[in-house]
Amino acid sequence: MIAAFILIVGFVGILIFFLSTLGHGKPSESTNQVAKNSGKSSQSQSKSTTKSEKSSDKKDASLPNSKTTDWDMVLVNREHPKDEMNPELTQIGNIQVDSRIAKSAEAFLAAAQAINPAEHFISGYRSVAYQTSLYNQYVEQEMAADPSLDRSAAEAKVQTYSQPAGMSEHQTGLAIDLSDVDSLNESTTAKQVAEIAPNYGFVLRFTADGTPSTGVGYEDWHFRYVGVENAKYMTAHHLTLEQYLKLLK
Ligand SMILES: [Zn+2]
Repeated sequence: MIAAFILIVGFVGILIFFLSTLGHGKPSESTNQVAKNSGKSSQSQSKSTTKSEKSSDKKDASLPNSKTTDWDMVLVNREHPKDEMNPELTQIGNIQVDSRIAKSAEAFLAAAQAINPAEHFISGYRSVAYQTSLYNQYVEQEMAADPSLDRSAAEAKVQTYSQPAGMSEHQTGLAIDLSDVDSLNESTTAKQVAEIAPNYGFVLRFTADGTPSTGVGYEDWHFRYVGVENAKYMTAHHLTLEQYLKLLK
């Protein structure tokens, strides 16, 4: 009888000990995990804070996940000349553009015309061959207007409003000239049109602020398609395409 009692007490004791080990084991393990996890997350938090602090002056969390190799991010300027690109073209009114932006360009024109019915396309896609003749024609005009200019001086003057062959982004099919007047005159509604441009994926390519970056003077008529997300970010942060591309991978 006594022996049986001792046995039972012993068994219960062992059982209680076993259960308590189980019970204690689990919580302490998970507590450790929580501690480990919180250590990890606070570490990664502090890392990301440092990262964003470093570049916060140039980009923020809303930077689009675009790449410099995206088709609508192509860069053509005097430092980045390109041979004939031969994009697939679509005729819209009096101009041709890269087929991929035809709908956006038409919608942009319609919205611009709602601001001023005189808004119209002046130019779209221009081949390198056509740009060559256009550029030479401008140089001739400048030399005729001011006989004291030699060819290089005339070219320097022309380059403030037109680019040499292979260096104009009109050859991409992603640039349009849009104004309520002739392209080389100042438009009265240009500012309003530039404000709505990002809604259709366009940016005013040559702003007055951007001249040191682009090397091109203010052009209130020249718009470049970069896609809605990029256009909104670039406009909000006052970035030229050259500056924006430096922020992307
Ligand atoms: Zn243009």
